[in-house]
Amino acid sequence: MRRQVAIIGGGAAGVFCAIQLRESSDCQVTIFEKSTELLKKVRISGGGRCNVTHHFVSQAQFSKNYPRGSKVLKQNFDVFSPEDMTHWLEKRGVRLKTEADGRIFPVSNDSQTIIDSFIKELKKHNVAICFEHELTQIVIENQKFVLKFNDKIFTVDYLVIATGGAQKPRDLDIFKPLSLKMVDPVPSLFTFKINDKALTELMGLTMQDVSVRIVGTDMKESGSVLITHWGLSGPGILKLSAWGAFLLNQYNYHFQIAINWMGDSSEEDIRNEIEILRQENRQAKVRNRKIEKFPQRFWEYLLVMAEIEADKKWAELSKKNCNKLIQLLFHSVYEIKGKTTFKEEFVTAGGIDLEDLNSRTMESKKIPNLYFIGEVTNIDGITGGFNFQNAWTSATVCANDISNKIN
Ligand SMILES: Cc1cc2nc3c(=O)[nH]c(=O)nc-3n(C[C@H](O)[C@H](O)[C@H](O)COP(=O)(O)OP(=O)(O)OC[C@H]3O[C@@H](n4cnc5c(N)ncnc54)[C@H](O)[C@@H]3O)c2cc1C
Repeated sequence: MRRQVAIIGGGAAGVFCAIQLRESSDCQVTIFEKSTELLKKVRISGGGRCNVTHHFVSQAQFSKNYPRGSKVLKQNFDVFSPEDMTHWLEKRGVRLKTEADGRIFPVSNDSQTIIDSFIKELKKHNVAICFEHELTQIVIENQKFVLKFNDKIFTVDYLVIATGGAQKPRDLDIFKPLSLKMVDPVPSLFTFKINDKALTELMGLTMQDVSVRIVGTDMKESGSVLITHWGLSGPGILKLSAWGAFLLNQYNYHFQIAINWMGDSSEEDIRNEIEILRQENRQAKVRNRKIEKFPQRFWEYLLVMAEIEADKKWAELSKKNCNKLIQLLFHSVYEIKGKTTFKEEFVTAGGIDLEDLNSRTMESKKIPNLYFIGEVTNIDGITGGFNFQNAWTSATVCANDISNKIN
């Protein structure tokens, strides 16, 4: 009799695992999905374009983009790397493009292209799909898994959990009877709320090469920062929210950040730049001759913050004025009063503790033939296609392991 495999969750990880498993072994695979749709997040991902993965340079480099789980992914990329994923899709007729920042999308700019290629594979391999089946209980009997879905019961040989990120600790309750170690889930990838009208009036401005630090810690990230009508967003902020996910949750999202608007430039360089501006533009208004890096609106904002009259002449600028300006350029402090999600994109930090999983297969160390893949585990990446890559890689190592056992 063919071995029975149940995959719980028809998201990126669950669907990809089903396909990989059926490509390598002759078993009966069923996906149990609580909603009426497969691949819901793939559909809305990347603003509807689906950022499937990211440009790959090396395992070491790529894995640096995972605040949690980088070690596991680093080693598993030799089984299924981001390049393997792009080849996999291209082999199935999906044309891909790499954008300037390294993010990879289908050429169609439409997530449906990715969904169609997966659905075609599911059909080709006769993967069974049970919609509106929410797993509510797992019981282990005679080394098999008895699965309860409200009024229905299924018994299987292998169980793959791909239920995605838990929004609340309660979402992981179903796994409690299995005595697995779990890390309470907290959100990652969010933007910072700031009640500062002078700043938020600059909405729409992106400041390049900025570094942002959480005050009182050495947690720091750099990148571009976007000023929005609620505060700050952009890659520099999102990266900091991911790396600081647990700490910022402890702070209840009320904390201070210090921004160095000059990024890598040294204070000496900026003092020189200001001195040159002063010497060369003695009769010009400060408003009209600015530090090159800044857009005009931002420059005028800085002058207000530094209490420098914008119509003052450069020659009239006092040492005190210059020092205040330099202080702000390198160390502007803002009070963060909450978080908001980034275009509703967020991932969950926390989930099934990696200590309880075999890192090469994603199988539970305590319960044979039970696997956890994708975002339900305590693995998450920054934005840019890294979260889907976790789904593709963890699904593949799990599928390979089940295949090896069955074949
Ligand atoms: C708006 C948005 C945009 C994103 N864009 C990107 C992007 O462009 N690139 C990127 O890399 N990442 C992106 N992400 C993150 C990415 O979508 C997730 O990391 C990824 O989908 C995780 O895959 P998964 O299969 O583990 O979980 P999910 O995709 O969340 O799938 C889990 C599935 O399990 C089902 N399920 C849950 N519990 C049960 C249960 N008890 N019984 C049965 N079924 C159950 C759910 O209904 C769901 O279908 C985005 C996230 C969001 C929210």
